[in-house]
Amino acid sequence: MEVSKFVWFDKVLVEGSEKISVPISSQGLNYGFGVFDGMRARSVGNETIIFRLADHIKRFYHSARKLSYPLEDMVQFEEMVDACKLVISENKLGDVYIRPFLYFGSGESPFEKTSTSNMHITVFAFTLPYPFSNSIKVGIAEKRKDDSSLIVDIKSSGQYQVFAFEREKARKKGFDDALYLDDDGNIAETVGNNIFLVKGNLLYTPSVANILAGFTRDTVIKIAPDLGYTIIEKKIPYSALYEFEEVFFSGTAVGIVPAKSVGDYKFFQTSTSSKFQEYYARVTRGEIPEYYHWLTKVKL
Ligand code: PMP
Repeated sequence: MEVSKFVWFDKVLVEGSEKISVPISSQGLNYGFGVFDGMRARSVGNETIIFRLADHIKRFYHSARKLSYPLEDMVQFEEMVDACKLVISENKLGDVYIRPFLYFGSGESPFEKTSTSNMHITVFAFTLPYPFSNSIKVGIAEKRKDDSSLIVDIKSSGQYQVFAFEREKARKKGFDDALYLDDDGNIAETVGNNIFLVKGNLLYTPSVANILAGFTRDTVIKIAPDLGYTIIEKKIPYSALYEFEEVFFSGTAVGIVPAKSVGDYKFFQTSTSSKFQEYYARVTRGEIPEYYHWLTKVKL
C-alpha cells in the first residue's frame, strides 16, 4: 500500500510518512487502542470530490467519544475536515481512499488510562481500487454479532483483526467475504459492508441494532425512492433469504456489489444492484443536484 507523500500528523503536514515512527510499546500496536474512518474521493475534471466528508468525520468523533478517547481536546471538527482536504490538495490526489486515524503511542504503563499525552491523530491517503468487479460469494461467519457489544457501531482498530480473521476463514473456504448473523440468527452485516435484499420494488435491510450503519447504506436508503424502490428496515432471519430475488452489499471500499451466493442461497439477478451502482456513481461524481450537499470539492 502506497501512502500519500504528504501526511497530516498531529496538526502538521509531514512530507514522507516513513518519518513517523511508532514505538513497539505503543498501545495502538499492542492493544489496538485506536479509532479510524475511511472515505473515498474521486477525480472529476480539475477537482477532487470527497464523498460525505463531514459524515465520516462525525463518525470518527463518535468512535473516539464512545471509547472516551479525548479527540475533541486535541483537534476541532473543522480542523479534521480541513486536514482531509489538505492531504488531497497538497498531494494533488484524485481517486483515493482517505484515512483519518487516531492511535495511542507508548504510555507510562501498558494499560495506563489513555490521555492526550500519547495520543496521535493523522490523516493520510492511498489508492484503493474497487476490489470486486463481479458478484461475490459470501459465507456465514462462525461468530455472531450482537448489539450488546460496545463497539458494534464504531470503527475501532482492534476489532478489525477479529473481522479480518472471519474473512480469512471464509476465503479459505472459497468465499469472498463473511456475513455475520446476530445471536438470534438474523442477518447483520459482512466484515466491512452492509447488506440489502430485493423483493420486487421493496428493498430490505437489517435495522441498525447490531450493525455499523454505514454511509453507503444511508446513501442507498436516501436514493432508493429516486429509483422507484421502497426501503424496509427490519430484522431479517437468515432462513428467510430464499424469499429474495437479489442481494447486494454496500460499503465505502467496495461501493455496491451484488451477491452470487450467500451461505446456502444462490442469486442469479443483478439488475437492481446495477441500477444502484450506476446511480451511486453519478451521485458521487456530482451529477445529481439533490445530493450536492454530500460533496466536498477540492481544487487541485
Ligand atoms: N460495516 C462495517 C463493520 C464496516 O467496517 C463498514 C465500512 N466502514 C461498513 C459496514 C460500511 O460502512 P460505510 O458505508 O460507511 O463504508
